[in-house]
Amino acid sequence: MSRSWWCEYASLPTGLAPGVRITVSAGRIHAIESGCAVPQSADVRLDGVTLPGLANAHSHAFHRALRGRTHGGGGTFWTWRQAMYAVAARLTPALYLDLARSVYAEMVLAGYTVVGEFHYVHHRPDGTAYEDPNAMGRALVQAAADAGIRLTLLDTCYLAGGLAGAGHEPLAPEQRRFGDGDVAAWAHRADARWDWIECYPDTRGPNRVRLGVAAHSVRAVPKGALGAVADVARDRRMPLHIHLSEQPAENVACADHYGCTPTELLAAEAALGPGTTVVHATHLTPTDIAALGQTETVACFCPTTERDLADGIGPARALADAGAALALGSDQHAVVDPFEELRGLESHERLISGRRGRFSPAELLQAGTSAGYRSLGWDDGGRLEVGALADFVTVGLGSARTAGCLPDQIPYAASAADVTTVVVGGETVVSGGAHRLGDVGGLLARAIAAVTGADGQHGHASRGTTDADGMTETDRRRP
Ligand SMILES: [Zn+2]
Repeated sequence: MSRSWWCEYASLPTGLAPGVRITVSAGRIHAIESGCAVPQSADVRLDGVTLPGLANAHSHAFHRALRGRTHGGGGTFWTWRQAMYAVAARLTPALYLDLARSVYAEMVLAGYTVVGEFHYVHHRPDGTAYEDPNAMGRALVQAAADAGIRLTLLDTCYLAGGLAGAGHEPLAPEQRRFGDGDVAAWAHRADARWDWIECYPDTRGPNRVRLGVAAHSVRAVPKGALGAVADVARDRRMPLHIHLSEQPAENVACADHYGCTPTELLAAEAALGPGTTVVHATHLTPTDIAALGQTETVACFCPTTERDLADGIGPARALADAGAALALGSDQHAVVDPFEELRGLESHERLISGRRGRFSPAELLQAGTSAGYRSLGWDDGGRLEVGALADFVTVGLGSARTAGCLPDQIPYAASAADVTTVVVGGETVVSGGAHRLGDVGGLLARAIAAVTGADGQHGHASRGTTDADGMTETDRRRP
């Protein structure tokens, strides 16, 4: 059965067009007609600007529980990480299902239609496997299905606690649940996903979930194992993601131990290429930039996270000029707003270059849509054209934020709150600015309270003082 929508404006590969009818059949775009002044009787009317679905190429869903709770004591990326470990320690498959469902619902409300979950909380807190060794991964798949978002489950190899000049350190107690012991055990567990992913019915399984792999970073995965993870990705034809040079300390440790940069280490392990996405890519040398460009590696920037964690500003324009593709992610979800990420990519460049228009509107939209889809293994999505996945997002033109802006410049004005309609695979998930699950704020509040120990009442946790680890008094009182 086909369905049809009439768009006041739609962002097509050829540019913005007025009066566009989109017909969808079997979850894909069957026809696109432009120049349609008025809708036909069966069309769903979409006032405003309809964009291709937006891709969140880098997510750790549980980090959402830290939003607005880590700003009391200053600190650095490394002190924030301690607060993050405290949340990770409390997750169970059931708690993670509730939390991820609400976080993914927030993403769809904001206009994201696909998410890449960089998933490393695999085991029980003491590092022993659950009865189902992929119980946490299953929870994420279920959460995405409930929230109506496509998911690429990037199963992450995490073997070491850190890197120093003397070499890799063992996992700290709070990191034990991330590790599989060695790369063969990781691959064995990650491969087991093929057995159950097929169990999901068509509309919720293979059509909405794809598999990928990740190596956490050169801090957490030694040379040799990095190459083995890259081999798994190549053998299984799955995307490979890895955090790269987010902090200068990673570069220093890599230089001390290996005598090269993290990018050079990945190149030596044959881990770069169009199927690889490096996340953050903040502190790079000119040689690194050239290597990432020549291999057409994807660089995923997470501007709202990078500014929140005081990471720095990565060389996005230089990477694009060198040949790298750019994608965008919200990472720790201090902000879930794809338009803020698009603007962040451009505005950070403006701040360091003293020039406006470092990226064209089309380049920004491509980073937020088709390039992100491709980075996550969905080469068939992120654009409004016949045959593509029927994922699209409508942004209203009449809100307090968007009123008066030119329709083709709406990404520079809109916020997540201006998204009125989200369609994923031809299925309406958000309509009239409301998610089909109902009160997403309420879902988030309950799920976050359950993993932080707060009571879920408005403002309760935020009234507590936070220490240098960004933990509240409530957190500290927990056993
Ligand atoms: Zn990350």
